[in-house]
Amino acid sequence: MELISGVISDQNTYKMTEKKVQKIINEVYPKIEKHYGYSKFIPECTPYVETHYNIYARHSGEPEARGEQDDCHAEFDRTDNSIVIYYPNMTSRKHIIQTLVHEYQHYLQSPSWFKRYYNMGYDYGNHPYEVQAYGEEKNWKLFN
Ligand SMILES: [Zn+2]
Repeated sequence: MELISGVISDQNTYKMTEKKVQKIINEVYPKIEKHYGYSKFIPECTPYVETHYNIYARHSGEPEARGEQDDCHAEFDRTDNSIVIYYPNMTSRKHIIQTLVHEYQHYLQSPSWFKRYYNMGYDYGNHPYEVQAYGEEKNWKLFN
């Protein structure tokens, strides 16, 4: 599942409600869009942000489906040009902003190089695009 990105969640068991997560997205995402602008690979529009409760349930269409990556935070779905936030795995306002900033980088990045780097032998931990996306998260305060 190449589109999946996110990090293994920490021991924080606090869960935010979907409503609260959505409220924070509504507040901060316009600032992220304005700051980073349009991708040259998808110049028509910026990604739509949606929330969902579980990555397996979303991909299979089975409401009860679960799997090994239940702690997946978010993904950028290039086909739909959407950022999907798995709200039960969000732990704080900061975390939501970092996640949006991270996934937005994938919208900006080249889809062909995304695949090519993996073909060259990079994995999730050292893929240059993931390194870049994680690095960008440190700027989360710009959007707070
Ligand atoms: Zn990523």
